[in-house]
Amino acid sequence: MKYDLIVIGSGPGGYIAAIRASQLGSKVAIIEKYSTLGGTCTNVGCIPSKALLDSSHHFYDAIKHFDEHGISVKNPTFDFGKMVGRKDKVVETTTGGIKYLMDKNNIDVYEGLGSFEDATHVKISKNDGTSEIIEGTNIVIATGSKPSTLPFISIDKERVITSTEALKLKEVPKHLLVIGGGVIGLELGSVYKRLGADVTVIEYAPTITPTMDKDVSKELSKVLKKQGMKINANHGVTSVERNGDEVIVKATNKKGEEVTFTGDYCLVSVGRRPYTDGLALDKAGVKVTESGMVEVNDHLQTNVANIYAIGDVVRGAMLAHKAEEEGVVVAEYLAGQKPHIDYNLIPGIIYTWPEVAAVGKTEQELKDAGVDFKAGKFSMRALGRSRASGDLDGFVKVLADKNTDEILGVHMVGARVADLIMEAAVAMEYRASAEDLARICHGHPTYSEAVKEAAKAAWDGKPLNA
Ligand code: FAD
Repeated sequence: MKYDLIVIGSGPGGYIAAIRASQLGSKVAIIEKYSTLGGTCTNVGCIPSKALLDSSHHFYDAIKHFDEHGISVKNPTFDFGKMVGRKDKVVETTTGGIKYLMDKNNIDVYEGLGSFEDATHVKISKNDGTSEIIEGTNIVIATGSKPSTLPFISIDKERVITSTEALKLKEVPKHLLVIGGGVIGLELGSVYKRLGADVTVIEYAPTITPTMDKDVSKELSKVLKKQGMKINANHGVTSVERNGDEVIVKATNKKGEEVTFTGDYCLVSVGRRPYTDGLALDKAGVKVTESGMVEVNDHLQTNVANIYAIGDVVRGAMLAHKAEEEGVVVAEYLAGQKPHIDYNLIPGIIYTWPEVAAVGKTEQELKDAGVDFKAGKFSMRALGRSRASGDLDGFVKVLADKNTDEILGVHMVGARVADLIMEAAVAMEYRASAEDLARICHGHPTYSEAVKEAAKAAWDGKPLNA
């Protein structure tokens, strides 16, 4: 078979590239090595983690917060198997939805491992041992990423686990050790903390979420500690050993002392690595960087003119929505359009409770770049909406250029800020000033009023409700 476009990998990057290319008139094939479509995000990432976060959030509310609302539920309990089963159903419905979209857009789906024969031919090695070669004028590599580990840690997938296993445990750990205080570790740590596990986070950097704005990391750390999570920053893990059902983690703290942590499960969440195993990139002559990422130019084109790469397998944030945007960009570029992504405006979100969300530059980045900026901050506690719901933690911080008032970064911790951040992204896309945002009438009472107030604080230093 000959196609205008072959997409290898059906994650958010790959399946969106396939849909957009088909919408623009291309004959498209997509190859996926697993039996379900949707990639990491749908099967073992964004969707299942949010399903468990939501379930555990309901339980936590029932045991911690119902009472203050005057609701009494006698001894709330949960059925973990049912919770995981629900998560599986959410995943199944979502992967089924992607299959439906492939059919609707006349995209041929091939199940099997895709590997290059040369720059225009891809072999599909199927599970039944047979193989097939298809030809593509253009090819998109969208093979994503896999969890990475430290060289001295062996992941046994039983007690020393990655996020993939953490999403399908048979029991709630008694004491979960989490190596790495980044997004994935904190989200999955929150799930099990809410369900009653002791959770100890061990982070090498001086703060959790070290790449986020410092105020955000500080607030999140404070809130998670209040929820009972133990956070050990400045601890470099040196060994992870199994002793029966126990996992023993040794780390060196800031003073150079050895600290030992003992739990029954250890989640290793130290990042992800780009995944190109089995692709035979050498047969097509596609270059990868030293860290294993496929090298691309500004058009996401590899060194081989008809081969493109998108998503987690290339440079940039490993996020589903970044992968999706890149999928759209490649499809439109191939159709002769002039698409564009503003990488500065890709929001970063953590689905703990309260949620965390950010777009644009951090204070540190602005300082490092020598930008003259001003900051306006507004506490969630001062909002009527927050008092009504009881979600008092967090703040919104708006960073704006001191001379032009243009918004340069917005950082949030609070209820529903995962959704709220898009107001900031839209404003920044249109290069709004802090005053522009402060002058927009916001519904009352909403969490979004914190954005207006923080913008006003950045613009003229005079929030109205603080
Ligand atoms: P992937 O989704 O990794 O898909 C790649 C696909 O290619 C896979 O299905 C793989 O099987 C297939 N493949 C690989 N090699 C071959 C081959 N040779 N032949 C055929 N098929 C192949 N991001 C967010 O934006 N929001 C979140 O809330 C979020 N939560 C996450 C939670 C967890 C626990 C994890 C692990 C990740 C999370 N992410 C989240 C990150 C997100 O999942 C990734 O950024 C996203 O899936 C990347 O998309 P992709 O299309 O590049 O690759």
